[in-house]
Amino acid sequence: MASRILPSFDSEGAWRAVLARDKAADGRFITGVLTTGIYCRPSCAARHPKREHVRFFATSAEAAAAGLRACLRCRPDEVARDIAAIDRALRLIETAEEPPNLETLARAAGYSNFHFHRIFKRTTGVTPAAEWIRVTSSASSWCSGGRRPGSREASMVLPEPGGPTNRRW
Ligand SMILES: [Zn+2]
Repeated sequence: MASRILPSFDSEGAWRAVLARDKAADGRFITGVLTTGIYCRPSCAARHPKREHVRFFATSAEAAAAGLRACLRCRPDEVARDIAAIDRALRLIETAEEPPNLETLARAAGYSNFHFHRIFKRTTGVTPAAEWIRVTSSASSWCSGGRRPGSREASMVLPEPGGPTNRRW
């Protein structure tokens, strides 16, 4: 299943994020370096390769399928695991009838409470509790409106690409 929190990057925007070592881009795409056979998260501290040697991938799995190996310095597979865990947590939050317990979410993700809370906030820009309130308040406005709006509206609340400065929370 495609990740809900990975907006697509055009290659120019992706390259700019790499040059800026933009941590907000981590998890949104993977930088593959064809000459070294290594793939990195966008913010990797290693020296930047030449643009023409770089290929972008949506996930580390795609980079690995292309024959590249994970960088030992920036460990891009860890960020992929974080993204998968947050995706799972978002689905749990959506279906929860009561405010989700941090411990339950963290356990489902396989992380400690502290680590889970940190990566959730970093990835989505909100806390798990704020996300639950957002999901449930939009659900109740659907009820009062008598009709549920189309899925296009629901997708508009996903975080935008571009980094922390344009996050709303
Ligand atoms: Zn790296």
